[in-house]
Amino acid sequence: MKLRTGIHRRFTDPSGNAFVYVAASAAIMAVDPLSDELVMAFDGEGRESDAVITGHSDAEGAASALKDLIDLGIIRPADEPNPPRAPMPPMPFPLATLVLNVTNKCNLSCTYCYEYGEDRLSEPAPGAKSKRPMMLEETARQSIDFLFKSCGERPVVTITFFGGETLLNFGTIMAAVEYAEVEAAKLQKRAHFALTTNATLLTDEVIRFLVAHRFGVTISIDGDQKEQDRHRRYKSGKGSFAEIVPRIRTLLKTNRANRGRPIGARVTLTQEASSVMDTYRFLTEDLGFDEVGFAPVTAAKKRDYALDGSAYDRMLAEFASLSDDFVAAALADRPHGFANLNDLLRELHQGIQKAHPCGAGLGLLGVSTEGKLGLCHRFVESESHEVGNVRDGVNEPVRQAFLKRGHVDAKTDCRQCFARPLCAGGCYHEAHVRFGDATHANLHACEWIRGWTDLGLSAYARIQASRPDFFARYETS
Ligand code: SF4
Ligand code: SF4
Repeated sequence: MKLRTGIHRRFTDPSGNAFVYVAASAAIMAVDPLSDELVMAFDGEGRESDAVITGHSDAEGAASALKDLIDLGIIRPADEPNPPRAPMPPMPFPLATLVLNVTNKCNLSCTYCYEYGEDRLSEPAPGAKSKRPMMLEETARQSIDFLFKSCGERPVVTITFFGGETLLNFGTIMAAVEYAEVEAAKLQKRAHFALTTNATLLTDEVIRFLVAHRFGVTISIDGDQKEQDRHRRYKSGKGSFAEIVPRIRTLLKTNRANRGRPIGARVTLTQEASSVMDTYRFLTEDLGFDEVGFAPVTAAKKRDYALDGSAYDRMLAEFASLSDDFVAAALADRPHGFANLNDLLRELHQGIQKAHPCGAGLGLLGVSTEGKLGLCHRFVESESHEVGNVRDGVNEPVRQAFLKRGHVDAKTDCRQCFARPLCAGGCYHEAHVRFGDATHANLHACEWIRGWTDLGLSAYARIQASRPDFFARYETS
């Protein structure tokens, strides 16, 4: 019978031990040298199994190893269609997270912002009524009622506050938290809170409130003064660095003293950004952030800050250095705050097999200032991506039609890709900005996505070789 390997990625640890990451099951499997030989023999177009086995010096061992590889789905009949991979999740899908865009205004004017920059999703039609700038407390309460009604049996839900600059509407945030805590107690559920901010409005009162309610706080910051002030500026052109640094230090100190949840920095990487390692060191060692996540800027190709191929290559090399740093820390049992790698290792270890790239439209929805539901926080101002409103609930036919189009099996370009269990075609918003279609695969970034997945696999193998107990942390959450 003609056999060939299914879609997979082979990689090795520092001692040369081989592993395969199998796309059909999203499993990482260690393979012994004989199995490894067979994986390589059946790669590509495939071979007749008899020819490989009977010609082998250990024919009996090879036959047994081949049987195991077939049972594990690593090697398969060459003419067999690929097995169904990620089934459509059951609908209506229970909500886990609601992102409340409490304002669409901002006190900064960051050049690359998707909300205010040149790539914003929607401009009001000429003569149309402009959108409400601030979410009313009543709308926030209706949103929370909607979340509790739509979360099924989940014992914990997350309410995330977003903007514009989120803290411009602190009044609504306080009212929402108070209401959510009371409602959660009545229902014997728990509400977690999270917030993203540019840190310019972090007063002592705000800090005390965030720490008291155990918020997961993410600060949008691009690095040291030069990095931060390049794009993250006030409308006057003045940089924001000097303003935010003392506020961030107070937040981190107060949070640590109260054993709050980890506080993260979120860095937007543009064409001109400096070294990822320098930025990571500055944010963790000089400022004291617990973790740092890096995200390539979302921008149409023509923007001068948009990443081109060489910038993606450079970013990958820099992510490789920071991954080495992470692995060294893991082997020495020291914490490390490279959030991207931590998230990737968790997904690899848990064998995540995504039908859709992220929770948008599934367990996560965004709410506009007026109470309209969007796929996520980035789509709330886009009428063409509206999926209902918090008063009447989700428009299930619209939501499900989108999820059908956004399913990874609908993306023919992704069929042969080993990274599809984790990528599933990539961010809908990025796709919308690049291709004008949220369900298009992120084809402009495939090399970057596959390169990054390779870095994750390499880190996984290196840690697994010396400290397999490291992964226990991913088994409970
Ligand atoms: S978008 Fe690219 S990297 Fe992602 S699954 Fe599709 S082909 Fe693979
Ligand atoms: S669509 Fe993109 S921005 Fe929205 S939740 Fe998914 S990954 Fe994030």
